[in-house]
Amino acid sequence: MTASPPSLSDSHTHTPLCGHATGTPREYAQAALDAGLAGICFTDHMPMPRWYDAPWRMTLEQLPEYIEEIQTVQQEFAGRLDVRLGLEADFHPGTERFIEKVLGMHDWDYVIGSIHYLGAWGFDNPEFVEEYEGRDLGQLYRDYYALAEAAARSGLFDSIGHLDLPKKFGHRDPEGQAVVHALDAIAAAGLALDFNTAGWRKPVAEAYPAPSLVRAAAERGIPFVLGSDAHKPEEVGYRFAEAVQQIGEAGGKIVTFRGRKSQG
Ligand code: ZN
Ligand code: FE
Ligand code: FE
Ligand code: ZN
Repeated sequence: MTASPPSLSDSHTHTPLCGHATGTPREYAQAALDAGLAGICFTDHMPMPRWYDAPWRMTLEQLPEYIEEIQTVQQEFAGRLDVRLGLEADFHPGTERFIEKVLGMHDWDYVIGSIHYLGAWGFDNPEFVEEYEGRDLGQLYRDYYALAEAAARSGLFDSIGHLDLPKKFGHRDPEGQAVVHALDAIAAAGLALDFNTAGWRKPVAEAYPAPSLVRAAAERGIPFVLGSDAHKPEEVGYRFAEAVQQIGEAGGKIVTFRGRKSQG
């Protein structure tokens, strides 16, 4: 792992409670220290209604366990690492009230709003990647960015997760118009964007969002929150030096969230 510039935080990390991550929260925190980071914010996949994507997230009953585990790590690393507690929520029309209820259950530091489903299709799941072949990509991205826009307007989230996620397996947006509307909505709502370095680990081999979108976001004054989307401790702080460089070149600003307020 290459050393990261000082005073950075990794604000998109998972825990084994979601069922598809490995390593204990303590190991993620230690990895953040080892990577030279100043902080880490846990944002595990939020509980959703039971019918929605259940195998990929903690249950509502497990939420207290999540909070307790992270609080234990917070105490253990006090004075050495700034450990914060958040959630990666899913924006899926019809579930807003449930999300609101879960967000009211604790004083979260940071809540990411992510879109992982178009209808019933988990479009970022490698198991269902063949579905892209039957789709009109232009329409796919229009539908996807309409959801991102609605997520921004919902008032539920602090940032939008991995903005151009449908490119994950290499299926790029052939039009590039819908994303502009989404960015306008994100700016108008005062949200940040998750600068998500996991894209560099995927077939597309490009962080989310793409460099051109990072520039378009920076022009609109949208700040960025650095996240590795680590699902194992080794991924904490993944390629943050490059992320900082890319955001800097675009004239963008990096923030973190505490108590759901952005800090420069
Ligand atoms: Zn995950
Ligand atoms: Fe995600
Ligand atoms: Fe994530
Ligand atoms: Zn994610």
